[in-house]
Amino acid sequence: MTMQDDAYLKCIDVQCGLEYPIKSTNLQCEKGHMLDVKYKNKPSDSLKEVFYKRRNPQGSIFNESGVWRFRELLNFCQIDTENIEECSKYLVSLDGAEGRQSKPYRMSKAAKFIGTSNENLWLQPEGYNPSGSFKDNGMATAVTHAKMIGAERIVCASTGNTSASAGMFAANEGIDCDVYIPAGQIAPGKLSQAYQFGAQIIEVDGNFDDALKQSLEDVKNNNGYTVNSINPFRIEGQKTIPFRALEYLNWEAPDWIVYPGGALGNTTSCGKALMELYEWGWIKKIPRIVVVNSEGASTLSDLYNGKFEGEELRWNKGKPNTELISRYYDHLDKEGLRPKTKATAIQIGRPTNILKGLRALEFTNGIVTTVSDSEMLDGMSVVGLNGFDCEMASGATVVGIKKLISEGIIKKDDVVVGILTGRQKDAMLPVEYHNNSENTFAKPPKN
Ligand SMILES: [Zn+2]
Repeated sequence: MTMQDDAYLKCIDVQCGLEYPIKSTNLQCEKGHMLDVKYKNKPSDSLKEVFYKRRNPQGSIFNESGVWRFRELLNFCQIDTENIEECSKYLVSLDGAEGRQSKPYRMSKAAKFIGTSNENLWLQPEGYNPSGSFKDNGMATAVTHAKMIGAERIVCASTGNTSASAGMFAANEGIDCDVYIPAGQIAPGKLSQAYQFGAQIIEVDGNFDDALKQSLEDVKNNNGYTVNSINPFRIEGQKTIPFRALEYLNWEAPDWIVYPGGALGNTTSCGKALMELYEWGWIKKIPRIVVVNSEGASTLSDLYNGKFEGEELRWNKGKPNTELISRYYDHLDKEGLRPKTKATAIQIGRPTNILKGLRALEFTNGIVTTVSDSEMLDGMSVVGLNGFDCEMASGATVVGIKKLISEGIIKKDDVVVGILTGRQKDAMLPVEYHNNSENTFAKPPKN
């Protein structure tokens, strides 16, 4: 088999399973199911040594990059990964900066607040990516695919982080970037990067789900390239978030990996990474994924935990009850229920990747829980006390772990990796938090 035959796209629906060539721009199969990037070859675990050696990059930005350091595990370009000229021709990178600073850290004050030992808790800040969030991981791969098929315009819907990342990559690559936003719902500061990088902002009446819908129609009608997490190539780059965590732990899987839940791209990519590593024999144990929804945007939690019509929605070995999801969305529409949380990064009512997310939860025996806005602010603030900056949605990870420990679901001697998805982009949140002396960690100004 030549390398050129290795990567392809495959429908996730087990009864459908349609396949497409890797250069296809379809986001879904012709029956409307989501797609996966698949690889026929099984990477040898001797690559662990190669990845480790690349941490001394020896002048290669592709070794320096926290995404492309693992390029053999996401080689949909099917290039000779040791050939730097080929890497330079195909792989899109912000000069090696995406994922470069991301790894798990110990944060003792967060551990104390959560009620676990400092040794068992790892928090991985993805906010130290160039555009300030985890999105750069997946944007590197999505824009690589955009470039591979010759796209001249990338398009996204965003509540802030995606637009910053897409705008930054587009500016670097000299291509256009259109950003659909829900009008009047985003703190202006969260869009300042998109403006700065020259993206075209398009305001849509409605919420994020409406903005996404309109952006997808634009791409369909006007020849652009969607870089939201509905794009399977976004998922490929985001696999490197758990790759870096696992590598740091010498590929010894933790008991839990915890994420905030929005569009469920992270849940999906973590699940796909773990499925692949397990299948390839790189890990022996499967960590359980925890998704933490905001109470105000709790679609996954409602469905997964049987809070709607009493049925616990599951992937069900590839036969999920999609009609239950449709009825839930109809119910949201009928009741005029809109997702509502100050953590705008996860203010999403219709998670694009819900089916892939369910698949990840089934594979990992995962858990879904919810936390309130005020809890998330505490989580965000205690991360700050350790000298790390994170956004409110990332606070969900911290208080989600705390909640599950207090419920006895996560045991005190379990090893937990929590992902902090982004850096603070709403400057007023910490100011308001600390000026209210009733908040747990508030330190109001004195005179
Ligand atoms: Zn299909």
